[in-house]
Amino acid sequence: MPEGHTIHRLAGRIQQLFVGQTWRVSSPQGPFTTGAARLTDRTPHRAVAWGKHLIVHLGADIWHVHLGLYGSFGFRGDEAFVTSDALGELRPVGRVKEPTYDDAGWIIPDAPRGAVRARIHVPGGWGDLRGPVKCRVLNPMQYEALVGRLGPDPLRQPTGEIDPQMLLTFRDNLARRRISIAAALMDQAVIAGVGNVYRAEALFVERINPDTPSQQLDADQTNALWITITDQLRTGVQEGSIRTLRPTDPELGLRGSDLHRDRRGGTGRAAEPLRGHWVYRHHDTPCLRCGQTILMRELQGRRLYWCPGCQTR
Ligand SMILES: [Zn+2]
Repeated sequence: MPEGHTIHRLAGRIQQLFVGQTWRVSSPQGPFTTGAARLTDRTPHRAVAWGKHLIVHLGADIWHVHLGLYGSFGFRGDEAFVTSDALGELRPVGRVKEPTYDDAGWIIPDAPRGAVRARIHVPGGWGDLRGPVKCRVLNPMQYEALVGRLGPDPLRQPTGEIDPQMLLTFRDNLARRRISIAAALMDQAVIAGVGNVYRAEALFVERINPDTPSQQLDADQTNALWITITDQLRTGVQEGSIRTLRPTDPELGLRGSDLHRDRRGGTGRAAEPLRGHWVYRHHDTPCLRCGQTILMRELQGRRLYWCPGCQTR
């Protein structure tokens, strides 16, 4: 499932490519026809993410998308249809080699392929939404109800800062739940945006046993967990993928050199890692920190990975 960093990047792309322009919205697959008719020929004025929810504001109407496990957005357009990445570098988005335009000067999009729930289209390009679990238009009351049910999203903190109020809310949410910390981190009402990978990796980094009741975490543990999750999510937004294991991590010790190999087959700590995670999908292999075997089991239908040797808090 796309985790929070993916949705924040997606919101950033929609913000850059579509916001401020009058757009056309359609539902080639059909189920979103009424919603599309409501949104088309209007101008979106802000695209944001809240946890795993994509929110596009158009006056009093709010377009709400949740990708779920299999949803995705794809963008195509002409050479001017570009976004800048976190470093400010311009990146073309699915470039059409020989674009053609209609009389109004709008690029003529490809015929929809597969089940396109929603297509958004501006003069320079278009985006196709496939397979979401939610794609609907909300009014302000419905929108308030949606975000009112969501816990704090670490990626909504001011850039480079920790928001003390959000941290307090996270701590309160953990204290009120009678569930394990592993279950709590997946509860979007406790913290928004964390999915299976960040859960496993953040608990590992903080050496927290996934079965520890969430209300038993002390303030230091809660603070550290929030900061670690914030760092991991922010890195995910910058890099566009989840990589929580770094060649330079001091906890790797000497084992680090076994894990990294440059493209010519040599080894070196500066080379790209062959694996990007400490425990996620590394069950039945030795923990890189303590050597014990990493375990996996199902928890509420999702796989949980952890090391019994060093996640003991
Ligand atoms: Zn370990």
